[in-house]
Amino acid sequence: MGGGQLGKMLALAAHNWDVTTWALDADQSFPAGPVCSHFVEGNFKNYDDVYRFGKQVDVLTIEIEHVNTDALLKLEAEGLKIHPSPAKLNIIKDKGLQKEFYQKNNLPTSAFQLYESGEAIRAAISDGTLHFPFVQKSRTAGYDGKGVAVIKSENDLHLLMPDASVVEDLVDIEKEIAVIVARNEQGEVSAFPPVEMEFNPVANLVEFLVCPAGLDEKTAKAAEALARDTIEAYGICGLLAVELFLTKDNQLLINEVAPRPHNSGHHTIDSCYTSQFEQHLRAILDLPLGSTNMKTASVMVNLLGEPGYTGPVEYAGFDDCVKMEGVKVHLYGKTVTKPYRKMGHVTILAQDLESAKTKARKVKETLKVIS
Ligand code: ADP
Repeated sequence: MGGGQLGKMLALAAHNWDVTTWALDADQSFPAGPVCSHFVEGNFKNYDDVYRFGKQVDVLTIEIEHVNTDALLKLEAEGLKIHPSPAKLNIIKDKGLQKEFYQKNNLPTSAFQLYESGEAIRAAISDGTLHFPFVQKSRTAGYDGKGVAVIKSENDLHLLMPDASVVEDLVDIEKEIAVIVARNEQGEVSAFPPVEMEFNPVANLVEFLVCPAGLDEKTAKAAEALARDTIEAYGICGLLAVELFLTKDNQLLINEVAPRPHNSGHHTIDSCYTSQFEQHLRAILDLPLGSTNMKTASVMVNLLGEPGYTGPVEYAGFDDCVKMEGVKVHLYGKTVTKPYRKMGHVTILAQDLESAKTKARKVKETLKVIS
């Protein structure tokens, strides 16, 4: 379910193995439209649309968490194979339940409290039970940095959202890391090498994704082990992208997870023996997992809509970009660009990270999504 870029790249991997794919989303013009075998127009948040869709397929998976899980629970009870399981999806969809899950399972995460509303947060500040600084996260409305407010002092209170929220300690972050891990039906677990995320401070979206992450061996191993423990605690099949904070005092904390292919794993298409999409298919189709070894170091750049342009998409500098050795451009096929919209990504391969980074900067200067 979901016909965006993740659905597109998953359908491409499935096509490679002659697996027939069905995609459900609002409009056939979405990225997965031209590459899946059958596109069903409908709303993945609607019970009837999801239920009807599920009745047509043998295995159901997602590229987005915000789907109708009531329909999935019914389909599962009727015998449909669904990965990730809808009960676990219900936990992951709600950042409050996610945090409680880590606490219950002794998995490290930042200290937190749950509040019913922005008003309740204000009241807690007034009565001295909540102190600055903190991070407010909407329990269910978050995506790509939306639904997150960093409140450092009274001056930031205008940023408070009215939603039911998780309020977390503001973590002193050294690095943001992601580890994509997979588990199949036999319980086999395999982790991709950790990647390091560097953020665009304005858009609050990942700007460079660097693999291998700049971690010492011990920390890299610990990050992989934590991702394995997390997928085993959830007991889900398929991929789990585990976003971690490495704190200034060298602790690893789970920020959040996504039970599906993830932006932080796109480099695997070009730089690893097995792509995250192939790995997801292997995991949900009860196949042995593939090798997660890297072929080369890589830097991934999200191709975002240039600020100031909204309308039918054009790619400036494409030819100059694909001329460069090791530069792999992936366009999602979205017809309309908007500022900071994810329109594609570019993976830059190189034998060493420094030359990949130099090329990545050149790619960012050269390739522009305009209209
Ligand atoms: P989203 O679901 O939108 O990706 P995240 O929970 O990943 O939201 O938060 C977005 C970003 O906000 C993180 O990548 C990190 O940079 C910052 N952030 C989130 N939680 C904290 C925290 N507790 N302390 C410090 N920074 C945080």
